[in-house]
Formats: sequence, C-alpha cells, structure tokens
Amino acid sequence: MSDKLMDQGLKTLAAMDDERMEDCIHCGDNWYVIHHIDGVCHKCQDKGLPGRWEIRKAQIIKRALLNTVLILAGTSAIIYALFMFFE
Ligand SMILES: [Zn+2]
Repeated sequence: MSDKLMDQGLKTLAAMDDERMEDCIHCGDNWYVIHHIDGVCHKCQDKGLPGRWEIRKAQIIKRALLNTVLILAGTSAIIYALFMFFE
C-alpha cells in the first residue's frame, strides 16, 4: 500500500471516529449524525416520518392556532358580557 493511500485510509478512519452518533427521534436507532436528516434515520426517512424541525413547526402552528382561538373566545366573552351589561 502506498503511503498516500495509507494516509487517506487513516484520515477516513479518523473522520469516522470523530463523527458524532445520535438516536433516531422515531425508532431510536443509534447511528452517525451525518447519515441522519434532522434527527431521522434512513429507514424512517423512507417511511416519510418528519424531522425535528417539521415536528417543531407543527407545534408552533398548533400553539398559534390555539392562541387565536383563545383570544377569539376571550373577545367573544367580553362582547357578550358587555351586551348583557347594557341590556
Ligand atoms: Zn428511525
């Protein structure tokens, strides 16, 4: 094996050693971070499961909708109370 090839091989091994590993957020499969997309392993990506950001986005939208509903409900209650008061 040439020195250059040997160096290349050692560099690849070093890079693999440095790579962080993480659990897939759906199935818990522990694998290299670089092979996960947004915390999702390849198997779960194939199943079309959402990544961390997709889940977070859904939560943000849900919360915003809930807040809107609560504000509307609160406003309606105040208007209703005013109507009752001035009747
Ligand atoms: Zn998975």
